[in-house]
Amino acid sequence: MAARSRGFATLAIHGSGGPDPATGACTPPLVPAAAFAFRDAEHAARAFAGEEPAHIYSRLSNPTNAALEQRLARLEGGETALCTASGMAAIAVVLLSLCRAGDEVVAGCRLFGATHHLLQHQLARLGIVTRFVDPTDPAAWSPAINGRTRALYVETPSNPTLRWTDVGAVAELGRRAGVTVVVDNTLSTPYLFRPLEHGADVVVHSATKFLGGQGSAVAGAVVGGADFIFGLRRGLYQDLGPAMSPWHSYLLLLGLETLSLRMERHCRSALELARWLQGHPAVARVFYPGLADHPDHALATRLCPRGYGGVLSFTLHGGWDAIKQALRRLRTIAVAANLGDTRSLIVHPATTTHSQLTAAEQLEAGISADLVRLSVGLEDVGDLTDDLDRALQAAMEVA
Ligand SMILES: *Cc1c(COP(=O)(O)O)cnc(C)c1O
Repeated sequence: MAARSRGFATLAIHGSGGPDPATGACTPPLVPAAAFAFRDAEHAARAFAGEEPAHIYSRLSNPTNAALEQRLARLEGGETALCTASGMAAIAVVLLSLCRAGDEVVAGCRLFGATHHLLQHQLARLGIVTRFVDPTDPAAWSPAINGRTRALYVETPSNPTLRWTDVGAVAELGRRAGVTVVVDNTLSTPYLFRPLEHGADVVVHSATKFLGGQGSAVAGAVVGGADFIFGLRRGLYQDLGPAMSPWHSYLLLLGLETLSLRMERHCRSALELARWLQGHPAVARVFYPGLADHPDHALATRLCPRGYGGVLSFTLHGGWDAIKQALRRLRTIAVAANLGDTRSLIVHPATTTHSQLTAAEQLEAGISADLVRLSVGLEDVGDLTDDLDRALQAAMEVA
């Protein structure tokens, strides 16, 4: 029988190898050491020269981080990975390593708020220009690409309105122009979507969200080719210092083991809630790619047949006043600016996660004042609908 590559759920547990050879420990050991001893001075010299693989210092690499990197690379179908202190650290080191003053980035205009701010303000200060395009229109990308473009940056599905980008089409443009295509895969996780299989070059993650899954560690990761990751590790990552703490990578390794189970439940509950919200008189519109009336329903169904993710958003008839009343009544669902947690979290993007955008930028990104984003947790769906119903009844008193 031909060897079959192991399945996703198996790799999420065994993708970094078997029990620890030194101790027999079944889970990867937590190694919170800052430095690692060499056999002798020559060994140290060879390690520093990159002639012999070795952990030197945990700002560069660490055995617990390495186990997480190995598993993430297997799950994304990439050669190797790099753990970072946060999702923003992953995005920043990737873009800064690709671009220098005078270079350009083409990015979708529907981005996580801090990513938009990084491109629009911080990179601009360094002389790196970003051209924002409508990410859902493949024809919008090519006119923005020129001889100075070094990266195409895609976040799909977008946060918070869950618009999908045809990653294969954008990756083809990048390949023809010789430009690196970077995809933020935070919302889907590799369980639902693997951008590298669609031609992307680099994947970035906020591992804080679904990968860790329990809202207990701010963390990030980059997955890509071995040469790119090696250059990053021995370049900006070493010099800027956004290393992941091994304590956090240990938590992430534990979280990752249940990723497929959690994503199945997140997807199922989110679809159920999206349908329930659609039928509620306080709700004007629901955005969830699993609903037939979402503009990207067909694309999302083609790109991620396993499910549509755990995040949805919706608008209320009564706008901001109704939202303030509604959010005050919630008991199970917390008002918090995170997603991908075991617990359900709700937020008003216009005044929180996306408040750094100007009114025009918010409009362009589809963020209206009457929109709320819900990250659907792993609670019983009946308890979530009870909680939302109490809140939405209060919203209707205002509307
Ligand atoms: C949270 C998030 C980020 C930033 O990640 P941090 O871990 O908070 O730094 C980037 N992209 C997306 C889509 C996110 O949801």
